[in-house]
Amino acid sequence: MMDFDASGLSSGYLEFHNSTNVSAWQMLRVPVYCINGAPGPTTLVLGGMHGDEYEGPIAIQHLVQGTSPDDLVGRLILVPALNLPAVQSGTRLSPEDGLNLNRVFPGDPQGSLTQRIAHFISETLIPLADHVIDLHSGGRSLNFAPSVLLHEVEGPAMQKALNAAKAFDAPFTVLLNEDHADVMIDAIVERAGKVMIATELGGSGILTPTTAQIAKDGLKNCLTNLGHFDDLNQPEGTSCFVRFPESDTYLISDDTLLFEPLVELGRHVSKGDVIGLGHMVDRIDVAPVLFKAPQKGWFVCTAGQGLVHRGDVVAIVAREVE
Ligand SMILES: [Zn+2]
Repeated sequence: MMDFDASGLSSGYLEFHNSTNVSAWQMLRVPVYCINGAPGPTTLVLGGMHGDEYEGPIAIQHLVQGTSPDDLVGRLILVPALNLPAVQSGTRLSPEDGLNLNRVFPGDPQGSLTQRIAHFISETLIPLADHVIDLHSGGRSLNFAPSVLLHEVEGPAMQKALNAAKAFDAPFTVLLNEDHADVMIDAIVERAGKVMIATELGGSGILTPTTAQIAKDGLKNCLTNLGHFDDLNQPEGTSCFVRFPESDTYLISDDTLLFEPLVELGRHVSKGDVIGLGHMVDRIDVAPVLFKAPQKGWFVCTAGQGLVHRGDVVAIVAREVE
């Protein structure tokens, strides 16, 4: 077990027993880094909650390699590949038990591997932290204009989270309420009155130079705002604040289609604008489906793949917050 009070930079593994067809008594080792600087707050930074989202893991690795404990105020606990089996298989869900780590919180100490990882985070790491930054991207099936996501919660943590989100300075900061939030890490952190910052920094199961740079710069700037580094070169903050609509106004495909976007992700649209076309390639008698903006706002999320199926999200238009 890591000593999270050890001075300076330390590294080790979170260890979980696992028993599979190919490894009966496996000890799964999930890398963890801890950096202790001058007395100050603790921030837990997580990447790889979903295995096909890459900005988080690389931003955390970059931070670990570039941070001297002498320059740090407080403590950083950094887990770049939290759901390691999912990261190693490049999949959203764990190949070990088919579970989505961010849908099984608070976890179960007697449960399957993914449930036990969630339990360890809930019971051991979150209690050490004042702030939690959980770095996501859209994964294979979604693509986001790089965004920081905040749930709208009551209490003083909300203003701190807004300030930290502004400092992250992703192109968008999204305020939202999620109907499945109870089983996400966010709920555990928010209920404890701690600062919760999540991101969606790209998607389609790839990295781009732009999204990687936004992740690296944003994480450092966010940690600076939270009091971990000297406040020297903080950007002005140009992030566009938007609110997600109710999920029943997401544009959803009713069929298996090829989605052809007509608008670049991240652009502003007017109500009724055709954002994209859905082509049914096996039907000569069916005209393309027109996907129209249900309201004016910013086109912040789209399908991560050209091929979409019935029920898949193809576009979300978020309204700018006044
Ligand atoms: Zn994710």
